[in-house]
Amino acid sequence: MRDADSLIDDLVREGVIHSPPVERAMRAVRREDFVPGRLMRSAYADHPLPIGGGQTISAPHMVAIMAEELQVEEGGNVLEIGTGSGYHAAVVSHLVGPEGKVVSVERLESLADEGRRNIIRSGISNVKVICADGSGGYPEEAQYDRIYYTCAAPRVPGIVMDQLKEGGILLGVVGPNGGVQVLIRYRKKDGRIEEEPLTRCVFVPLIGEYGYG
Ligand code: SAH
Repeated sequence: MRDADSLIDDLVREGVIHSPPVERAMRAVRREDFVPGRLMRSAYADHPLPIGGGQTISAPHMVAIMAEELQVEEGGNVLEIGTGSGYHAAVVSHLVGPEGKVVSVERLESLADEGRRNIIRSGISNVKVICADGSGGYPEEAQYDRIYYTCAAPRVPGIVMDQLKEGGILLGVVGPNGGVQVLIRYRKKDGRIEEEPLTRCVFVPLIGEYGYG
């Protein structure tokens, strides 16, 4: 069984993790607390794992890449679309720190409950999990300094972009359901949106009004 430290050591050595806050956040969150009990032995393998409802907890290297590319600042207001196990939100909660907050939306009630439980059990109090269709974001707590998707969407709709502050960053996963998708970084600058493709990836689909199906 692989342990947490050797996984993070590898991600640092490979340059996937390159900033001290992201390294601290990744070391602070125990992935074993977010995977189903029967998969505990695989908690520190660097690949996605099933978490129920046909969904997966992302691979640690993908969470690390996204944590780096999101360029989170302390005290920020962050929106996550797709709570799943709560692992990714837990990592980002360490990056925003006690003055900041993560609002995370999950459409499946079983996972919203599970994610919320995992987060609370990990002693984290600055993540708010909401069970709803997050495909249109969560206007109630907008605007956000950062927004990120943990599932693949056909596109990022204007209704979600409108919830991003001026100067804010949004990480979207855009591409076909079940095919190869692209992680894209959007920046709102002077009211305009700059778009930068980062890497190819494969995520579960966003299901809902602005998603698939
Ligand atoms: N960040 C998660 C990964 C979750 S996988 C983790 O660390 O475990 C993506 C999640 O997005 C799934 O749980 C799926 O149910 C959820 N999802 C899909 N469509 C959604 C929607 N419209 N609104 C909110 N969540 C959605």
